[in-house]
Amino acid sequence: LVHSRPDLLRKINDRQVLNLIRQKSPISRTEIARELKIALPTVSRIVDSFLERGWLQSVGAGDSTGGRPPTLVELKADSRGAIGVEIGRGSVRIVYTDLLADVLLNDERPIEEVEGPNGLVRYIQGFIEYHRLKHESIVGIGIAAPGPLDPSEGLLFTQNLRGEWLDKPITKIVSNHLGLPCCVSNDADAAALAESWFGKGESFDSVLFILADTGIGAGLVIQGSIWSGEHHLAGDFAHMIVNLDEDNETCFCGRRGCVNAYASLPAIEQAVVRRGKLDKHLPWYEVIERARHGHSPELEVMNTAARYLATAIVNMVDVVDPGIVILGGRNTLHADNFFFDLVQGSIEGLVPNAKAEIAVTGFGVDAVSVGAASLVLQSIYDHMYVVDSQ
Ligand SMILES: [Zn+2]
Repeated sequence: LVHSRPDLLRKINDRQVLNLIRQKSPISRTEIARELKIALPTVSRIVDSFLERGWLQSVGAGDSTGGRPPTLVELKADSRGAIGVEIGRGSVRIVYTDLLADVLLNDERPIEEVEGPNGLVRYIQGFIEYHRLKHESIVGIGIAAPGPLDPSEGLLFTQNLRGEWLDKPITKIVSNHLGLPCCVSNDADAAALAESWFGKGESFDSVLFILADTGIGAGLVIQGSIWSGEHHLAGDFAHMIVNLDEDNETCFCGRRGCVNAYASLPAIEQAVVRRGKLDKHLPWYEVIERARHGHSPELEVMNTAARYLATAIVNMVDVVDPGIVILGGRNTLHADNFFFDLVQGSIEGLVPNAKAEIAVTGFGVDAVSVGAASLVLQSIYDHMYVVDSQ
């Protein structure tokens, strides 16, 4: 295959070289040739081409073993960037990252003000103009949204968004209007991708990302690629049944005892109302604050939520056997990761010698939007991506 397709081979080599430079900056051409087992003249041609186009820069000389010291090259991380868009249930968040997925700029708007794909085009256009981003320095636009969705057609189907977002080819609309490549993925999948390439999952072969927010979701990345499943539903574990007791909670899906009915933010708010003597409806962040200070019934509600989410995670880990499990979402992160600590404690109680590492995302509330940007960044570093897309 590769021998008959010189253009494909060139694309594969380009990405392998750029990715190695990303990981090992600064590095010499000789070292790149040795690590990737690509002939030195080929490496030099690729490096020179990236230097010419401004992706790389030369830096001081490396160690010399006699003769002329080799020139080192490094990634010019701010020479270009990616736009990542998180379409959330309540808001739309935009980030602009450099080539290492570091967030340089961000913005957020209530979702009612964005009004569907055409409104999103206007929002991104305004963001680009306000920050005076040069069109040629934007590698592309990644979008992450709650599932289910169809990445190849760029369609969103989720019942979590209003009708104006649904059944419209969002990637085509954004790409045609803004003249930039655009792709879409499930929110937890995108966050898992960011962790795998640029975050705490970098040194692991597989990453499971758990998003605990208005909804509960999981994303799985195996060897640098999202595993979205045959019907793009992999990791959709919100309705995994974790409680079979008589008095279990009814979920909005119609089943009983789903993890979503305990650990999602609306479920937490409702549980406090049901258990409490309070007349008023406390927002989830106040529930977490009160739980942190030991108040009842908020602490019991958060403990129950943590125990059931931990149960679902342990079940997932048994099936998938990931290297690391990373938690994100507002429930996880609020009040110094209060809920994360409860979940971690519950997991340790259930499985005292778990093999998989458990961590909280290092991207904070940007995990999904950086994930969206990393959909774009993957396309410039991942040589398997170019093979798959042929
Ligand atoms: Zn359910």
